[in-house]
Amino acid sequence: MKGLMMNTPLTVRMILERARLYYGSNEIVTRVDGGYHRYRYSDFYDRVVKLAAALRKMGVGKGDRVATFAWNTFRHLELYFAVPCLGAVIHTLNIRLSPEQLAYIANHAEDKVLFYDAMFSPAIERLRPYLNTVKQYVVLDDAAATDKDLAYEQLLAAQQDDFEWPDLDENDAAGLCYTSGTTGHPKGVLYSHRSIYLHTLTCAMADCMGITEEDVCMPIVPMFHANAWGLPYTCAMIGAKQVMPGQFMQPGEILKAIVEEGVTITAGVPTIWLGVMQVLEQSQVDLSRLKKIIIGGSAVPEAMMRYFDSKYGIPVIQAWGMTETSPLGSIAKLKQHMRSWDYERQLAIRLKQGIPAPGIEVRAVDESGRQVPWDGKTLGELQVRGPWVASAYYNTTERAEAFQDGWFSTGDVVTIDSEGYITICDRTKDLIKSGGEWISSVDMENALMGHPKIKEAAVIAVAHEKWVERPLACVVLKAGETLTDEEVIEYLRGRFASWWLPDAVEFIQEIPKTSVGKFDKKVLRERFKNYRLPERKK
Ligand code: AMP
Repeated sequence: MKGLMMNTPLTVRMILERARLYYGSNEIVTRVDGGYHRYRYSDFYDRVVKLAAALRKMGVGKGDRVATFAWNTFRHLELYFAVPCLGAVIHTLNIRLSPEQLAYIANHAEDKVLFYDAMFSPAIERLRPYLNTVKQYVVLDDAAATDKDLAYEQLLAAQQDDFEWPDLDENDAAGLCYTSGTTGHPKGVLYSHRSIYLHTLTCAMADCMGITEEDVCMPIVPMFHANAWGLPYTCAMIGAKQVMPGQFMQPGEILKAIVEEGVTITAGVPTIWLGVMQVLEQSQVDLSRLKKIIIGGSAVPEAMMRYFDSKYGIPVIQAWGMTETSPLGSIAKLKQHMRSWDYERQLAIRLKQGIPAPGIEVRAVDESGRQVPWDGKTLGELQVRGPWVASAYYNTTERAEAFQDGWFSTGDVVTIDSEGYITICDRTKDLIKSGGEWISSVDMENALMGHPKIKEAAVIAVAHEKWVERPLACVVLKAGETLTDEEVIEYLRGRFASWWLPDAVEFIQEIPKTSVGKFDKKVLRERFKNYRLPERKK
């Protein structure tokens, strides 16, 4: 017997309309040169309508991919809503990727229109000859149109307010975001209206991010990385004031905006907060309105949690997630019976990656696919499933093995304790996470092993105070050959983005191998675990 409830499609437009109807006077603020741009959700809505009308006139229709190359700003937010509400797919390009990766991604996605911040014009000029499917470029700025590109403000000014939104199916695609893999090309995660809607509801919950209409929320996580953790949608759904840092991502600027706009909730990767802590050490900043800091993307350093607890009484809340999980997967909050525990015991719980968000199921499995016990000791690979977890990568058969029996294998090696708290202990994916962004060690190893004097090479992550992880190249030279570390790094320069280049090179006798002859990077990571990296050269 089926239930008799309405089958209302869960769409991004429901979020948009709610913001207009009930929170029209709440503010959206963007840091711009010399101050702030501010307007209200009602103004935002009007512009979203005009943008959708303009896109339709450009020939953008259902399922078309519309790319963005931009910081967190009100214009980017308008695209976050206009594109999916029109039935098209917003594809956020990560500005930190190399031109080769970006060209691959935009061509693979078959992006039709590309919106970019004016400050990225030089990068776009370099990319333009390689983007085979982009028919129209639009510059996100107050500037005038050029002979090549349309200007965003002129485009909006030319539209009327009358626009009919299309009816959409909740399973229609709404967003697309590529994620770096251990091997092969970056892979696309294609979100649906339904997945975004359900993720948004869950993020807002008191025991998840706990965002309410009274909050002032400033996501420092970029809108080009994992949907800015869903915060643009969550804030709009519950009408919270949003503050966007624009290109002003330096720690001092972030603190300025937090204080000046009365931010109550903010979120970002550990590297951002390490920088903020340094500024706080040298200055008096009034953070009395800040209620919590949500940190994820990499493990929260213990010292960071202690720092904000002891100096400011501001709880740091750790969340775990992936591009493939929209991204919220789990969040570390204390349960009621833990509130009477002493500080150290509570801290140990808060430093875990948390329990799954409602809607997400988890299990940890060993190499033979058997579930490991939830004893807080036995390691297994984390697998997840739920309505906002990817069921496949977009338009590729690569890594299909990650999606089996209805579960997604995360590549994170974890323990789960008897209370259900997950702790990330390692990862199977050969990647290095520097400042919240991935560096593929395998690509660099392959390049290094193409050097005529290098026999073997492994690139591993070593701990770094600011970037959390940085690459160290472990190199075995062919018999009788010599190379300096500068020569090794120079060899990689030009092939990889400069922030990918290893901070140091260690010449070793042999790369340790597993029983089946694969590089055993665990052994190398253990050997170099206390490695002191030199200051990074530009
Ligand atoms: P991305 O898809 O780029 O957001 O990266 C997702 C990956 O980042 C996860 O699979 C983890 O390896 C890592 N990650 C995310 N959040 C955390 C966290 N709180 N602690 C440790 N690692 C994390």
